Amino acid sequence: MKDMIEDIIKLSQNKFEMLKESNKPKIGWISISTPEEIIHAADMIPFRITGELGEHATDAGALLSNNYCSYVLSCLSEGLDGLYDFVDGIVFVDACDMRKRLYETWTRNLPLDYSFFLELPKEINPLSREYYRMQLRRLIESIEKQYRCKITESSLQEAIHLSNQTRRLLQRLYQFRKLESPPITGDDSIHIVKSSMCGFKSDFNGKLEQLLSTLDSEGESDGFKPYRVLLCGSYFDNRDIIHTIESCGACLVCEDNSNGIKYFEGQIDPDSDPINAIADYYLEKCTCARIVDTDRRLNHLFKLIDEYRVDAVIYFSLKFCDTNLMDYPYIRSELVQKGIPVLHIEGEQHIENIENIKTRIQTFLETSMY
Ligand code: SF4
Repeated sequence: MKDMIEDIIKLSQNKFEMLKESNKPKIGWISISTPEEIIHAADMIPFRITGELGEHATDAGALLSNNYCSYVLSCLSEGLDGLYDFVDGIVFVDACDMRKRLYETWTRNLPLDYSFFLELPKEINPLSREYYRMQLRRLIESIEKQYRCKITESSLQEAIHLSNQTRRLLQRLYQFRKLESPPITGDDSIHIVKSSMCGFKSDFNGKLEQLLSTLDSEGESDGFKPYRVLLCGSYFDNRDIIHTIESCGACLVCEDNSNGIKYFEGQIDPDSDPINAIADYYLEKCTCARIVDTDRRLNHLFKLIDEYRVDAVIYFSLKFCDTNLMDYPYIRSELVQKGIPVLHIEGEQHIENIENIKTRIQTFLETSMY
């Protein structure tokens, strides 16, 4: 089974080589609120820019400001290092103020044949729904014009089918994490989710389908860890932190963030008008810090806590991520009122001094577990 998991994770690790080999136009994206279906429907490859190879955040900080979250700085740093010189374009989404500034800085300082800034309302009401549908039509028109292609209703439906399939498979994978002894670790799960965003959904779906069949036949793992932890907050993919949680005798059972549940929850209605269905999906799934209604996010978090039988929550926010920082005091007080221990960790995407974070996690888990 380990080989199958590694094979899936390799999709993400080898994404640059694979993308460069493909003849199709490649479109990068930075927010999980990017309607990948529209890009797929134009027969292009949408893939996530992750910032994981961004090593020159200082250069990026000189263009933006050093008090930007390290995810945004690392993405720009990758761009400055020329990692995305091969891409045909990038779709940016108005998901938070820092990503808005990233769009401005990227398009002003780096060569890009095509870019699009998609506005995404922060509230859900009939007016915002209509506005967002209009935004999606603008995106479609702009892609059609730039690439001289036609995005048809049937190509959108096909793309919806493909993405829904990915979502369904990832949802099945996460069902295994609800078991008493999940047969799949938090580290593997996060990296499998990352692979689903690297642009090769058909390959990914096939590989994940095989892994799920093996998981179905093998059942639960032998190593029972009764203390169950949920991780939420900003962009997160730090292996050291995950290993610390898992090596302290706790079990990371769910990630309510963009490399976890938030990417693949729900389904786009395949039977409605495709543009309306895509608009409804991306507007309604946004149970993240960017929406105005924090109670909506909180209720979603409580639902996950119930479903995954969570004992404690680790709230990870990237430094300067005001979007997540602002929600934290309220979310913390509501969790504490319900008797759920919560630890706030503030860090960077590429953490240099991991030791003090490790100590805090170890102390938190030891004191709340026993
Ligand atoms: S980590 Fe926070 S500030 Fe940075 S891009 Fe995400 S939401 Fe915006």
